[in-house]
Amino acid sequence: MSGFLSEEQQLLRQTIRDFAATHIVPNASGWDEDGTFPTEVVAKLGELGVLGMLVPEEYGGAASDYMTLSLVIEELARYDGAIALTVSSHNSLCVGHILLAGSDAQKQRYLPQLAAGAHLGAWALTEPGSGSDAAAMQTRAERHGDHWVINGSKAFITQGSVADVYVVLALTQPDQGTKGISAFIVEKGTRGLTAGRKEDKLGCRASDTTSLSFDQVKVPAENLLGKENKGFVDTLKVLDRGRVMIASMALGLARGALEEALQYAKEREQFSQSIANFQAIQWMLADSATELTAATLLTRRAAWMCDQKMYVKKEASMAKLYASEMAMRVTARAIQIHGGYGYMKEYPVERFYRDAKICEIGEGTSEIQREVIARAIFAD
Ligand SMILES: Cc1cc2nc3c(=O)[nH]c(=O)nc-3n(C[C@H](O)[C@H](O)[C@H](O)COP(=O)(O)OP(=O)(O)OC[C@H]3O[C@@H](n4cnc5c(N)ncnc54)[C@H](O)[C@@H]3O)c2cc1C
Repeated sequence: MSGFLSEEQQLLRQTIRDFAATHIVPNASGWDEDGTFPTEVVAKLGELGVLGMLVPEEYGGAASDYMTLSLVIEELARYDGAIALTVSSHNSLCVGHILLAGSDAQKQRYLPQLAAGAHLGAWALTEPGSGSDAAAMQTRAERHGDHWVINGSKAFITQGSVADVYVVLALTQPDQGTKGISAFIVEKGTRGLTAGRKEDKLGCRASDTTSLSFDQVKVPAENLLGKENKGFVDTLKVLDRGRVMIASMALGLARGALEEALQYAKEREQFSQSIANFQAIQWMLADSATELTAATLLTRRAAWMCDQKMYVKKEASMAKLYASEMAMRVTARAIQIHGGYGYMKEYPVERFYRDAKICEIGEGTSEIQREVIARAIFAD
């Protein structure tokens, strides 16, 4: 797959690999076990420029593109899904929404520190009663003179308790459905904004996931992000690009599992020979390699379309749907190839399997991706 990448992209991938070998691999299992958010390592990724990849140079970013961000997320997920999820949501959701809809003043104020990793970003759409049906949200924002007042709650927010900048979706015209939703930038420490306790999760345990509560949260009028009542249109565009990044994360987890399984198959002996000699093992590996390649092509195509500023809804959903479900199959096979050892925390494949599950749920479940694809092909 390297043939599709520029020399610069291959170099960056190697940099991430080296970084992971030093800072992530020795700690990933411990962070997972304890559910520790790796603050220092995320800050170091900021120093590498990984938290400002889409941000133009004038706002302190790397002025890179979606293809390169996709490669970075894939490479991080190869070693640690939680870090990949952190980097993905910061870049493609919070920063992505500010880049898409922000005024120059908002970009000047928020992007330099987000790009440097001095600040972390979160994006809050989901609520306790509204996930797939995001437009059924209850959080309200009301205009009072020169400010807005937000009341409500959000659920499952990545970086919920560690973010410095939150992009929050709220109803501004409750009777208008999707045409009555607006986005706001809310800063950490704003009175009335509180994060719930960190969720205890199946996978990506080191990533920070919390609820958020908004109790009379006062936000200056200039923190309205994008046009009033047009926030849902921007949200869907942000999600299209975010889905390509979740697909990228699924690629990395699957590649990690496949590489570990290949290695193990060569080393493990049963019946006085390497288990790699058994056709059953070879076929599992062959299926995994083929499916991973197919998912990679779908994801590269979608990332390329993002960079061409093309309408990518169907292609993003296809990449996310296929890559996520592929990652579940490939990580499950990797455990199978490891036998009983695969079930133990001593080997990383069980963590890859647990981490991969979020790719079928976050930023739209597999069922919702199928809905999006079906709608698109009927309209074609
Ligand atoms: C670890 C984690 C991190 C997250 N991070 C964020 C974040 O940073 N920001 C954010 O805003 N949200 C975040 N989310 C929320 C995530 O996007 C939602 O969980 C997801 O969209 C599904 O919503 P739900 O959980 O309410 O499930 P529901 O919508 O209640 O779905 C339940 C089931 O019903 C199915 N279903 C629902 N509607 C349909 C339909 N029309 N047709 C067929 N089946 C349907 C679903 O596919 C699913 O199987 C995160 C979630 C997790 C678990």
